Amino acid sequence: MAKKPSFDYDLIVIGSGAGGSAAATIAAREGKKVAIVEANAFGGESPNWGDIPRRALLQAAHIYDEAKHAAAFGLRSATIGYNYPSLQQWKALAVKRTGAGNNRNYYEKQGVTTFAGTARFLSPHEITINRRHLSAEHFLVATGAHYSIPDIVGLEEAGYVTPRTVLELTRPPKSLYIIGGGGMALEIAQLMAIFGTQVYIAEVASRLLPSIDNEAGELMQRLLKEQKGVIALTETRTVAVEKEGIIRRVTYNRGGVEKSVRVDEVLVAAGRMPNVDLGLENAAVAYTPKGIEVNDYLQTTARHIYATGDVLGKSTQTHTALLQSRIAAHNIFKKNKVIPDYTVTPRLISTAPAIASVGLSEDDCLRRDLAINTAMAPLTMVARSTTAGTNDGFVKIITDKKGVIIGGTIVSPTAGEMIHELALAVKYRLTAAQLAETPHAFLSWGEAVRVAAAKIV
Ligand SMILES: Cc1cc2nc3c(=O)[nH]c(=O)nc-3n(C[C@H](O)[C@H](O)[C@H](O)COP(=O)(O)OP(=O)(O)OC[C@H]3O[C@@H](n4cnc5c(N)ncnc54)[C@H](O)[C@@H]3O)c2cc1C
Repeated sequence: MAKKPSFDYDLIVIGSGAGGSAAATIAAREGKKVAIVEANAFGGESPNWGDIPRRALLQAAHIYDEAKHAAAFGLRSATIGYNYPSLQQWKALAVKRTGAGNNRNYYEKQGVTTFAGTARFLSPHEITINRRHLSAEHFLVATGAHYSIPDIVGLEEAGYVTPRTVLELTRPPKSLYIIGGGGMALEIAQLMAIFGTQVYIAEVASRLLPSIDNEAGELMQRLLKEQKGVIALTETRTVAVEKEGIIRRVTYNRGGVEKSVRVDEVLVAAGRMPNVDLGLENAAVAYTPKGIEVNDYLQTTARHIYATGDVLGKSTQTHTALLQSRIAAHNIFKKNKVIPDYTVTPRLISTAPAIASVGLSEDDCLRRDLAINTAMAPLTMVARSTTAGTNDGFVKIITDKKGVIIGGTIVSPTAGEMIHELALAVKYRLTAAQLAETPHAFLSWGEAVRVAAAKIV
């Protein structure tokens, strides 16, 4: 019988973000010999530069904004102000408290050997890191993605910020032109506008948040304009950026008419591209610039190599990368392979009000030619909105013709919490009638879910 080849590790994970970290620690806990390689900061995008620092700053911004409007509640808040370096310190503290950023020691404590450096495949079972060669029986590629910078005349020379670097500015810019009108763009638009920045958002589609139910994008566009003076340039293509001293002149085309605006900073928030430049061809892993190809089990064309997270070029959410990572850890070592279920993955935008959705949107249903019923409950229909002094927001529920809930969108101060009720309903095929007959606490935002469900029954 041929001798089984010996390797340095049972599993080498390349990339220590959400897509890699869970798998590495699960496999180590199960007694496997595991190594993780990280080219930059251990922990990846989410804790170091993404979700967590941005949410920490947004939290401070929303408190500041609410305090400024506290007179409506009989409170005096005339002297409220902010110190931006202190806000940056709060952001750093929040990142530190999660323990997930720059956390090389964490892996070591979990029994995972760590390597700092850029991994590159030399052959199907061998990688190199800083000229050191390591072999493994299995690999997990979780190398994430980088910002894709649109091909706009003069942009490179004029300079720009990304959702990562905009958070590191020493003070909010006086004016900001954002390329892209998705969730991340809206969060940063609101954040900066609260601190006094004049914001322009340029979106090619006819509305902001084009991938979510249209009521949400329309409402946020109105609120951002009325409350924060944000100018939404929909159906707009950015043509050129030119530096004029310390200012940037941005030329855009809207409805065939070319105009320009002068701003301090330009933010590119228009998408990310997978990090696939690690010698995958040497390992017979099929990929394109849009991502690594995997089957339903997250297995690449090389059977012993799996891939998870943003490098797949599909989802860009931490909780999806974590789900895939846990499943990859299972599938790599177990015979009974599992397929991840993405049908109830919630999407969340942490603006105020927040926007959350799950399952199918109305546009998804139209594209699939599904017969549906929809119902909408404005937040004003529940007493909680009166006591909160908030009128803006809604719960929208979509059911099939039998009343089974297949999707929903919530715009509310606590949408990120409320959406899980709808996620549960979609996952377990609950009907609108079942939600409507479930008691919801009086004076809760959740009552709006019951009201929307009752409208369908
Ligand atoms: C600014 C920003 C904000 C976000 N906000 C949210 C949010 O609020 N909610 C949400 O759900 N999602 C959010 N996301 C998306 C979320 O951060 C990603 O979906 C998640 O980080 C994906 O995890 P990952 O492990 O695939 O990639 P990453 O976290 O990017 O980790 C990949 C790691 O691989 C390393 N690497 C790359 N190439 C190599 C190599 N050759 N060798 C060794 N290491 C390598 C990288 O340095 C990196 O640390 C945000 C993303 C960004 C950019």
